[in-house]
Amino acid sequence: MKTADIMGVQFHAVTLNEAVDYAMNRIHTKKRGYVVTPNPEIVYLTLDDPAFRMVVNNAALVLPDGIGIIYAARILGQALFGRVTGIDFADLLMHRMAQEQLRLFLLGAKPGVAEAAADQLQKKHPGLVISGCHDGYFKDEQDAVDAVNAAGGADVVFVCLGAPKQERFMSVWLDKLDATLLCGLGGSLDVFAGTVKRAPALFSRLGLEWLYRLCKEPWRFKRMLKLPLFLLLAIRQRLLPGRKEGNP
Ligand code: UDP
Repeated sequence: MKTADIMGVQFHAVTLNEAVDYAMNRIHTKKRGYVVTPNPEIVYLTLDDPAFRMVVNNAALVLPDGIGIIYAARILGQALFGRVTGIDFADLLMHRMAQEQLRLFLLGAKPGVAEAAADQLQKKHPGLVISGCHDGYFKDEQDAVDAVNAAGGADVVFVCLGAPKQERFMSVWLDKLDATLLCGLGGSLDVFAGTVKRAPALFSRLGLEWLYRLCKEPWRFKRMLKLPLFLLLAIRQRLLPGRKEGNP
């Protein structure tokens, strides 16, 4: 698979369909792995943390989530087909899983959210088997692993604990979980449950999902300031290609 190097993170240059085909293939061949969907905030975290960068780069699929990644790719002259957001990937994957009655476990978010998401997802994707749910506020990670395994395992586990917790969780527990593919999907369960609304399609098309989110959740302001900083960093890397990683 072709990759695009964005500040040390190796993104896979795939379309949404190719990403889901690849994921389904791994499920069919029972090849374990995990999927990450880094946005600029996550790439930012990897700059000062080589161990975390390795966790991200060891993923079976590294999907460009967020318009900032696409802009950075353009600035750096790296080829990516476009955004493949975690939510779109999850949606198409569930559609395909439902056709084969595959099993999905939902892990993460506040108590009750995963169950509400399961109700909605089963309505939207008849045939999909939700093997179980567990919230994301456990004290002991082993409890979460036991919950997945006690439910009889799953083909896919959505791990929605926010970054970098979910990426670390997936890399540490991959071999202990009775599951083939783990997908780190941030706040997706809140969206599937209907507690958080996704930006209208127009915002998405214009690459302004961040603006919608900023209006809805203004407390994210500080986190979002990283986006322009991230693009400045990309410009600096383009102009001074010798410097690969590290904050300014
Ligand atoms: N979360 C969790 N356990 C934690 C911390 C966070 O399950 O210890 C959940 C939180 O409830 C939310 C998701 O992880 O559903 C993180 O959402 P956020 O919107 O911050 O992630 P993003 O989509 O921006 O990566």
